[in-house]
Amino acid sequence: MIRPELLDRLRVKPGKKFRLKDHDPGWDQTEELKVLGKEAVKERARELMAENLKDLAAAQDVLYAGDKYAVLIIFQAMDAAGKDGTIKHVMSGVNPQGCQVFSFKQPSKEDLDHTFLWRCGKCMPERGRIGIFNRSYYEDVLVVKVHPQLLAGQGLPREKFGKKFWAERYDDINALERHLVRNGTVVIKFFLNVSKAEQKRRFLERLDVPEKNWKFSPADLAERAYWDDYMAAYEQAIAATSTADAPWYVIPADHKWAARALVGDVITTTIRNLDLTYPEVTPAKREALAEAKKKLLAEAD
Ligand code: ATP
Ligand code: MG
Repeated sequence: MIRPELLDRLRVKPGKKFRLKDHDPGWDQTEELKVLGKEAVKERARELMAENLKDLAAAQDVLYAGDKYAVLIIFQAMDAAGKDGTIKHVMSGVNPQGCQVFSFKQPSKEDLDHTFLWRCGKCMPERGRIGIFNRSYYEDVLVVKVHPQLLAGQGLPREKFGKKFWAERYDDINALERHLVRNGTVVIKFFLNVSKAEQKRRFLERLDVPEKNWKFSPADLAERAYWDDYMAAYEQAIAATSTADAPWYVIPADHKWAARALVGDVITTTIRNLDLTYPEVTPAKREALAEAKKKLLAEAD
């Protein structure tokens, strides 16, 4: 387990000033880690990932058996920050029956004919399950805020899209998440914080390595040109929607091994903090189990 203070540093506290520039996308900035050296940290992160996957599988098992809570995990990030790889990694440790991933891309005509929360609302995890959102309703206060002309396609009954409009969207999101939490869905939100320089390196790799060419889309480069606008939109959205019940974690994402270890740790720690136990066997059920065993043993082989 990663020390709780380190995890705590990643969590965005409600009511405190939040600035993205206080969060380094690298991960060797803390004294403690500098002393260890990069290779040692990398090795430790690998060990942690393996431990986490085991812990996560165990946590998910109890979650499923208890059938009381659901877990919603939201991933948001700039392109090439490692969302897909992180999700793949987290998923590799859990029972596929208890976990579902949804990706939210450009909205369809049907999506746009509803409110911006609708398409995600249909995909919320059932009790006992983990639901992973690869992008989410947050896109509507991120990409849509960076490109406000997208609002024209949303058919909203208003003309002004100023500060108040965005504040209302944050409120709507907070209300949805409060509703989820009150009704037994644990909400965890990750912003994979990659630097602009690292994104450039990863894009170049996608262009240079034939096996990675498929991952590159010219649209990604177009969005990169809006980097500062995206950072401003992320900063505002995270500040407005990191609540005690549904916190944002800003994950340093320039090193994939660090990002994966941290994400895994936040998820397992959160599920473990629910203090779940396997359902108790009632006396009636115990009797039924004993009866079933008697019957099976009495069968002629
Ligand atoms: P990958 O590139 O790894 O396959 P991705 O999530 O980047 O995954 P793309 O199809 O490349 O998928 O991009 C999806 C695009 O859809 C993103 O640029 C995202 O900002 C955009 N998008 C998502 N939700 C909305 C929305 N509500 N309105 C407008 N654009 C959206
Ligand atoms: Mg993409």
